[in-house]
Amino acid sequence: MEPFELTAARLAQELRARRISSHELVEHLFARMERLDPYLHSFLCRTRPLALQLADEADQRLAAGAASGPLEGVPVALKDNISVAGFPATCGSRILEPYRPVFDAHVVERLKEHRLPILGKTNMDEFAMGSSTENSAFGPVANPWDLSRVPGGSSGGSAAAVAARLTPLALGSDTGGSIRQPASFCGIVGLKPTYGAVSRYGLVAFASSLDQIGPLARTVEDCALLYSVLAGKDPRDSTSVGASVPDLGRSLDRPIKGLKVGIVREMVGEGIGPETREAIRRAARVLEELGAIVGEATLPHMHHAIPTYYIIACAEASSNLARYDGVRYGRRAAGGDLISVFEKTRAEGFGPEVKRRIMLGTFVLSSGYHDAYYSRAQKVRTLIKRDFQKALEEHDLLIGATSPTPAFRRGERCDDPLQMYAADVCTVSVNLAGGPGLVVPCGLSPDRLPIGLQILGRPFDEERMLNLGHAFQQATNHHLEVPSLASPEGEPEGVWGAK
Ligand code: GLN
Repeated sequence: MEPFELTAARLAQELRARRISSHELVEHLFARMERLDPYLHSFLCRTRPLALQLADEADQRLAAGAASGPLEGVPVALKDNISVAGFPATCGSRILEPYRPVFDAHVVERLKEHRLPILGKTNMDEFAMGSSTENSAFGPVANPWDLSRVPGGSSGGSAAAVAARLTPLALGSDTGGSIRQPASFCGIVGLKPTYGAVSRYGLVAFASSLDQIGPLARTVEDCALLYSVLAGKDPRDSTSVGASVPDLGRSLDRPIKGLKVGIVREMVGEGIGPETREAIRRAARVLEELGAIVGEATLPHMHHAIPTYYIIACAEASSNLARYDGVRYGRRAAGGDLISVFEKTRAEGFGPEVKRRIMLGTFVLSSGYHDAYYSRAQKVRTLIKRDFQKALEEHDLLIGATSPTPAFRRGERCDDPLQMYAADVCTVSVNLAGGPGLVVPCGLSPDRLPIGLQILGRPFDEERMLNLGHAFQQATNHHLEVPSLASPEGEPEGVWGAK
C-alpha cells in the first residue's frame, strides 16, 4: 500500500517504526496534491515551510524515541478560517485576501505541540456560509466521487481533500452542519464536538453561539485521536468548558451491547430521500446485530430548525462581520471619506451570500422586528434543545440522516438560496441544541454517491458516540470504498496509482 492510502492511526505506527519519515510523508502528499488537486481545488494555499519544519521536528523526536502525542508526524490540513500565524486566512473571501494573522489559533498551538505537519489551508464557502463550497470567492471545490457534484459545505475543501487521500486528517468548522454534511457527501467521517469542547480562539467567527471546530478523517478512530489532541480548556475562549477528555484510544473498542439508540423519526421521514432512508435503516440493523437496543425517537420541533437557525446565525454574523471595514483587517478599497471607504470595501469585498446574510441579520435585529424574529427564534431554540434533552434521556444516542440527499450537482441550487438552506435540515438543530454529532459513511447510492449516518450524543459524551461509530465501522466496509475522481470527462489517468 502507498502511504496516502493509510489511515492516520496506521501512519502513526509506520512513523514510530521508522518505516517512513514524516518528511517523506509530507513530500509524498504534496506530490499527490500537485497531481490531483487541479481536479478538485480543495486547497487555497499550501504551508510548505511550516509542514516541513514540523515534520523534521517530529522525525527528530521519533528518532529519539520521544514522540509525545498519538499523531506525532501525521499531516493535517486546516480550513481557511483557522488562523496560522504568518499564513493566509482568507475564509474564502476577497475581503480577507491580503490578511495574515499574527497569532495561532488554539487548535493550531495544539497541532504544533504534537508536531502534526500542517499541509495547507482548505477551500470553503465564504465565511463558512453555504452547503456546497460554491460560495468560495476563489472558485468551487469538486466532489472526488463525481467531479460534476458538490462536496458539501462549508468545509468542502477539507472533506474533499481527505476523501481524495490528499491528507489523512483535516480540521473544519461546524456552525450548522459544515463538518458533518461535507463528510457525508464525500464518504468520510466528521465530528462536530459539543459546543465548548474545543476552543474557538483563532477561528474566524461566523455565528459565535453555534461555531465549533472539529476533525475530518476516514475513520472514527482517526477522528477520535485528533479530537483528543484538540479538546480541552482554553481561558482565551470564554465558552471553552474544559471537560476531561477520556482516553479515547482505549474506550473506542468497548462493546456497544445494551446501548440504547433512538432512530430520529424526523431524520428518516418525510423529505428524506428513499436511498438515504434505506441506508439509515440498514445501519440501524447493523447496530442491532451488534447488541444495541434500537428504538424510535422524536425531535418534534425539528421542522422549525431551519428558520430558527437562519435567523440566529444571520443575526450573529451581521454583528461579527461588522469588523471588516477596510480599516483594521484585510482589503481596503480606495475611497474619499471614511464612510465611502467602509461602503466600497464591503461592497467589493463580500460576495452575494454574505451580503444576503448581513442584510437578513440586520433586519431581524432591527427595532420593531427584533421581538417578532430574533427573540422568537431564541425561544424556539430552547424548545429544540429540550427535544434533544428529552430524547437523550430515553436513549443513550440518536441516529438519523445527515442530509436528505447525497451530493447534488454543481450549480443546481445556486440560484435558490432556500433550496440550498434545505440541505441543512438534519444538521442545524444539533448546533442549536449544542450537543455533539458524528457522521460515518453508511453506504453508496445507486449512482455511487456516499451516504452518511449521523450519530448524536449527550453534551460532552463524545466518548459513547465515537464508540458507536467505531463499532459500526469495524462491522462494515463502507469507509473502505474509494472515490474514483470520476468526471463526465472520464477518470484522470493514474489517479489511484498502480492497481
Ligand atoms: N450550511 C449552513 C450555512 O450555510 C452551515 C454552515 C456552517 O456550518 N458553517 O449556514
